[in-house]
Amino acid sequence: MLLAALLGACEREAQPFSPTLSVHFLDVGEGDSIFIELPEHKAMLVDAGDSYLGLDITEYIQKAGYRKIDYLVATHPHADHIGSMSYIVRHMPVGDVYMPRVSEGSVPFRNLLSALKEQGLTVKEGKAGVNILHSGETSVDILAPESIDEEELNNCSLVLKLTCGRHRVLLTGDMEAKAMEVLDADLGADVLKVAHHGSADALSESLLRRIAPRVAVISCGAGNDYGHPHADTVRLLTRSGVKIYRTDADKTVIVTSDGKTLKVTAGNPSMERGN
Ligand SMILES: [Zn+2]
Repeated sequence: MLLAALLGACEREAQPFSPTLSVHFLDVGEGDSIFIELPEHKAMLVDAGDSYLGLDITEYIQKAGYRKIDYLVATHPHADHIGSMSYIVRHMPVGDVYMPRVSEGSVPFRNLLSALKEQGLTVKEGKAGVNILHSGETSVDILAPESIDEEELNNCSLVLKLTCGRHRVLLTGDMEAKAMEVLDADLGADVLKVAHHGSADALSESLLRRIAPRVAVISCGAGNDYGHPHADTVRLLTRSGVKIYRTDADKTVIVTSDGKTLKVTAGNPSMERGN
């Protein structure tokens, strides 16, 4: 089933919709992987799900018509975000790589660092204030972290703001509400990727008021062991009139914008085998 929602004014209905930004929230089960099509046929991948998804994510990107990932972003070094990144680095050409400055020693993180070294890639430090890309009316900026506390790796997550004309998409990794609330940046966005798979610590009323999204996307696995998304987080979004898409129910969710009109489609192919 293909569900489609058209959001915002459609003052140019007679003209064909030609998006300059497409954000694919891939259904990778319990984890995050977000593939982004940018102007000038550039591609970005933010996170890469768990370790068994490398081939599926690579094929998805190739089927979309891309031979290179121009910008690779690891929000933070947890396995459900970087598990397949070493595979992808070894199987596709990669341009710039952004990560927070952390030294966590998990196996998937060490594998990723080895793969980057093999490919001769160096890591650029991702932190608040870094602009990754600016092209016409499209830009990608890093809003967080402002500082690093390796005791709380989720809160070291890179937070990205994608801007396309009048539209903004906020990608939050697993950063908890308490860490986002103290950020100086303008967090306002039309589309919010809810942090930490919609956990109880992902949102607060004041943070949601500050972001004021129309659409929320929750990336989580069907029947996951963590109870994600938490009922309170879903209730808060619903009560605030935010339209929720969930990768466990809606599969891969694609948000597109031409700077004036924003579209959301759900029911796109899943990376999860058997779906
Ligand atoms: Zn996570």
